[in-house]
Amino acid sequence: MDYLPLFYQLQGKHCLLIGGGAIALRKAGLLSKAGGLIHVVTHQIEPELDQLARQSGGSVRLGDYQLSDLEGKTLVIAATDDAQLNSQVSADAQRLTIPVNVVDNPALCSVILPAIIDRSPLVIAVSSGGQSPVLARLLRSKIESTIPSAYGRLAALVGKFRRRVQEKFTTVDARRDFWEETLQGPLAEMVFAGKDHVAEEMLETALDAEQIPAPAGEVYLVGAGPGDPDLLTFKALRLMQKADVVLYDRLVAAEIVDLTRKDAEKIYVGKARADHALPQQDINQLIITLAKQGKKVLRLKGGDPFIFGRGGEEIQELATHRIPFQVVPDITAASGCAAYAGIPLTHRDYAQSVRFITGHLKDGSIKLPWDELLHREQTLVFYMGLVGLPVICQQLIEHGRDPQTPIALIEKGTTREQQVIIGDLGNMPKKVQAHQVTAPTLLIVGDVVKLQSQLHWFDPAKESG
Ligand code: SAH
Repeated sequence: MDYLPLFYQLQGKHCLLIGGGAIALRKAGLLSKAGGLIHVVTHQIEPELDQLARQSGGSVRLGDYQLSDLEGKTLVIAATDDAQLNSQVSADAQRLTIPVNVVDNPALCSVILPAIIDRSPLVIAVSSGGQSPVLARLLRSKIESTIPSAYGRLAALVGKFRRRVQEKFTTVDARRDFWEETLQGPLAEMVFAGKDHVAEEMLETALDAEQIPAPAGEVYLVGAGPGDPDLLTFKALRLMQKADVVLYDRLVAAEIVDLTRKDAEKIYVGKARADHALPQQDINQLIITLAKQGKKVLRLKGGDPFIFGRGGEEIQELATHRIPFQVVPDITAASGCAAYAGIPLTHRDYAQSVRFITGHLKDGSIKLPWDELLHREQTLVFYMGLVGLPVICQQLIEHGRDPQTPIALIEKGTTREQQVIIGDLGNMPKKVQAHQVTAPTLLIVGDVVKLQSQLHWFDPAKESG
């Protein structure tokens, strides 16, 4: 280890910044966030920096750097493009043992500034020891995306209760067990979901209890998107890696299930059209039983759990049993398929509204308010419409929609196997018969489908060939 990472208390301390350009301004931003008083010495200064320095309680002096500028300073940053001046400042500061940073010149630094993930009071610093700031920044973005922005509020909550926990649990081990247990349970998730007051009540209850609380179960009803794993949300991925048990159905691609925790128990619960691997009632019951055993249960659903996903039914019972749960939305098949196929669902010239409809057959027929589906400027999206496709087309025409209304069938949308078939209400049933179409498929009806030929995926290889 070439450097010892430390966190520097700068509140109310005097810092010297030499230089007045954009880089100096960036450094001043950091110093000001940490509460430092910024004194700038430079020949020319950006107005924004001038203002920041004065607001921080520091000063600005236009002129040459002098040794006396170092007096009483806690930290020195040189951000000039004058190599000789930078060396001078570095040598002076190091002689006086004042920590000094020279921007982009590790050799002249006694301290270096890391890339920062700020979830104050929680702060993560990443450093490449001056070898590759770009790499440190790339790593920072990775960490940024996996740490919920609410971690800061969680840390603050812990800070608030720290003393009381110390009083109640007198040994270090007991305190650690308490915090590990509470912070990995529903409490943290409550904070991430913005329900800080509930989290606080949970902490109160846990503190009132005679002993460390038993691990509490909770349920995450998570949308897995339409197929492409890149369409998962950060939140989905985080909960996928936290859950002890995963219940997934047929629509969730294997490569997405693979992103769940390696040692999690994985249960397939169906369901293809006719093959109900587990009846809905049994799924609901299984979720409750697992949660009551103290498990973190992930219910992974294709697309968005609240769009034709029975998400509502599954969580209704959780609420009755007072099991903590949360619902994580994702991209629904309509948005995913439309975007990947190049069909905007609305367009100022063609469609002012869009309607999501289930085309699922009950007793061989589809009962839909056909009269409401005739408006030319309304895009219709049918989920579960493959089997009912001939009936859908026929009914729309019979009720008065133009047989030449364009329609697209998107098969396995957003995945590498995506296929798009374009036709019109009149000829689509025949066209589909001629293809080997497999589920899942989505139907989009309306003039927006015409745009597909212009907006479909741009493939440079094909275009040049
Ligand atoms: N909750 C899901 C929908 C579940 S209903 C969502 O929000 O997307 C199941 C239907 O969704 C399928 O019959 C099909 O019509 C549609 N569907 C889901 N994924 C799809 C995909 N990748 N491509 C095409 N259609 C899809």
